[in-house]
Amino acid sequence: MPATQSTWKLPLLLTICLVAGGLAGWFAGGHVATGVALVAVAEIVLLLTQLRHIAKSMMSSRSPSPYVDPDQPRHDRFMMRSRRLAANLHDLRRAAGSLPDAIVLLDQDQHVRWFNHAAESLLGLRRPQDRGVLLKDKLHNSELAGWLQEASPEPLNDVSAPGQPSRHINVTLLPFGQRQRLLLARDISHMSRLEQIRRDFVANVSHELRTPLTVIHGYLELLDPEDVPHLAPVLSEMRAQSKRMGQIVEDLLTLSRLETQDHVGEERVPMAPLLATLRKEAEALSQGRHSVTVESSAELDLLGSPKDLHSALSNLVSNAVRYTPTGGRITIRWERTAEGANYSVIDTGYGIPADHLSRLTERFYRVSSSRSRDSGGTGLGLSIVKHVLSLHQARLDIRSTPGQGSTFTCCFGRERLLAPEIHESRSLENQ
Ligand code: ADP
Repeated sequence: MPATQSTWKLPLLLTICLVAGGLAGWFAGGHVATGVALVAVAEIVLLLTQLRHIAKSMMSSRSPSPYVDPDQPRHDRFMMRSRRLAANLHDLRRAAGSLPDAIVLLDQDQHVRWFNHAAESLLGLRRPQDRGVLLKDKLHNSELAGWLQEASPEPLNDVSAPGQPSRHINVTLLPFGQRQRLLLARDISHMSRLEQIRRDFVANVSHELRTPLTVIHGYLELLDPEDVPHLAPVLSEMRAQSKRMGQIVEDLLTLSRLETQDHVGEERVPMAPLLATLRKEAEALSQGRHSVTVESSAELDLLGSPKDLHSALSNLVSNAVRYTPTGGRITIRWERTAEGANYSVIDTGYGIPADHLSRLTERFYRVSSSRSRDSGGTGLGLSIVKHVLSLHQARLDIRSTPGQGSTFTCCFGRERLLAPEIHESRSLENQ
């Protein structure tokens, strides 16, 4: 019997039976009570059977209950949705769990709340004991722990994985949920290996080319154009090109060396004599075609590698001379700033269109190849500048307006500055 019918049929049946039982008892000999009692027992049995049936219906989640009829379809849909959500959540967790990148969910104080399998191998986390630990304590003394402590917004690139030091990872910290963080560590060991192969290849090729080029250049220098007047222009071009090739090889070797270095020497680099040398170099290169000015107001020296800093700072001066037409002005400026000190080279030259600016420090990137070659450029100068500055924790800022000129600024932090000759061994970091 359907449950909806049983709700009104049951009391009716009960009443009919009671009346019928009473009448039967009265006709049988006036014992109405006996008839009613007999029928009542039968009814109780009937009632119990009905209750059992209803209880069974309620136990089964798929069959609707007779007492929640209006809500039942909604209840079913809710249950089905919950089950589907739970299944999706389970799938998502399994997917995150089997990703090759390490994922760690951190609370606002950087306690570990959850992590996937890759986090076990790359970061050395263990299940279940590392749930709830402070991540930086777990990664103690690693570069990653220091980065977490600083809470730097910049990603941490190419560091050893704390769980497997032979592997290399890039790490990013993303905001997640309410004041939580998601730490992502990507295994870049394969990329690092390829990058190492590229670096070795460039260094080896450059090294191998150096000797034959030196020999060719030497013989070309020995030849006197007066002995072969008809070949004089050819000889001059050969000399210029062999010199240029030699410079490219030297720049490639310099870049290879800078790339493999992770720190520089901590020597005093006196700025006053360096600025004077840079001015002389600019004037020698300019041959009187430009006006060269030095403005020095910082009265500070640098701390680092004298050779590399000279190479970087003079590269900017030589670019200014080469990319400024005759009659232009070149200013070399050394000034104190709120963050430290800036070295700038300002020219009134050709300028650079804005869409090239972000790519200028790439190897062999040139705004105009012909102009670069004609002026004796290798296309590696700014790449060297960027590497030298990065080793000195400094950065290169480039501003330019086509047709008006450019300003290349090296921004040095306080930790790289020294008061000239007064506190020789003390940096200005704490001033
Ligand atoms: P290059 O040896 O070609 O000068 P660099 O790496 O030093 O190589 O510079 C890359 C490119 O940036 C140059 O080819 C040139 O197009 C542009 N550039 C650099 N400095 C200046 C400047 N002061 N004014 C205009 N363009 C510049």
